Amino acid sequence: MSAETLLDVVDLAKTFPNGTRAADDVSLSLTRGQTLGVVGESGCGKSTTAKMILRLLKPDRGSVTFEGIDVLRAKGSELKEVRRRLQLVPQNPQTSFNPRLTIRASLEFNLRAHGVPRRTWRSTVDDMLLRCGLRVEQGNSYPHELSGGQLQRAAIARALVTGPDLVVCDEAVSALDKSVQAQVLNLLSELQSDLGVSYLFISHDLSVVEHISDRVLVMYLGRVVEQATSEALYADPVHPYTKALLSSAPGAPIERIVLQGEPPNPADPPSGCTFRTRCPWVMDTCALERPLLATTPAGSLAACHLNLSSRPLATSSPA
Ligand code: ADP
Repeated sequence: MSAETLLDVVDLAKTFPNGTRAADDVSLSLTRGQTLGVVGESGCGKSTTAKMILRLLKPDRGSVTFEGIDVLRAKGSELKEVRRRLQLVPQNPQTSFNPRLTIRASLEFNLRAHGVPRRTWRSTVDDMLLRCGLRVEQGNSYPHELSGGQLQRAAIARALVTGPDLVVCDEAVSALDKSVQAQVLNLLSELQSDLGVSYLFISHDLSVVEHISDRVLVMYLGRVVEQATSEALYADPVHPYTKALLSSAPGAPIERIVLQGEPPNPADPPSGCTFRTRCPWVMDTCALERPLLATTPAGSLAACHLNLSSRPLATSSPA
């Protein structure tokens, strides 16, 4: 773990009691002041991974290290400190705000929960509302009095008010119209420049993740299948699943790859490579061996037997 590493996650795994393997040895790391995008279809394990990192859900195994602190074992004041420094912006502020509290009261609630002295609350909340593009008076509004975009700004203010180092944005702009989405993404970038905060930015939408992320991690059925800088991933995707995701975006520079079939049942995933049942390049080995993440010629990481055998993948699917 380098000195710059803020978060280091190793082999996090979670199988729910119904047999769903929601996270299967997920590893990732995040550099201070940067954004790691996490993408993949709905149900691939993004939220489960985020919840385990935030210690809202207990993993079956694996470790989460945040600035040298073992998050999963932290207790007492250390745990309190971790909770203050790791915050969440959830997808739906409509349900995450208490409808009976004003926005100011909700932000103050977060400050109180983290032991911030009361005398600083007013100025801290005012400052954060303004930074998030809201007026100080809007702190007196109730959630239903704000638009979706304003309420998501308030949710960002609520997360940032405790001075966190890392904010997990879980589908934080997915419920917003495209134009409002762009405004909120710009806001997150500005706040990152001003405050030096890092983001773990989760979305099912690759186009949303592209501009905000320094690095991007792609998940399929609970596993990380590719990890690359944002530039490399969008210019030269390696894993067939990433290629398929990118090719389905409007205006994609590569030929459309239509995936056959539905994603497999996560309680009964295919053997070997879990993507093999939908992969246009499937080979015999794919059913036999799980491909591990390995460095690609371009320096990214991909979990694909074709990468391991260094056989180049064409940018269009085979006939
Ligand atoms: P994503 O955030 O990528 O949409 P999730 O992490 O929410 O995916 O879910 C991953 C898988 O785990 C899905 O198949 C989902 O149905 C399942 N899952 C999530 N939470 C639970 C739970 N509490 N009990 C059983 N299965 C769950």
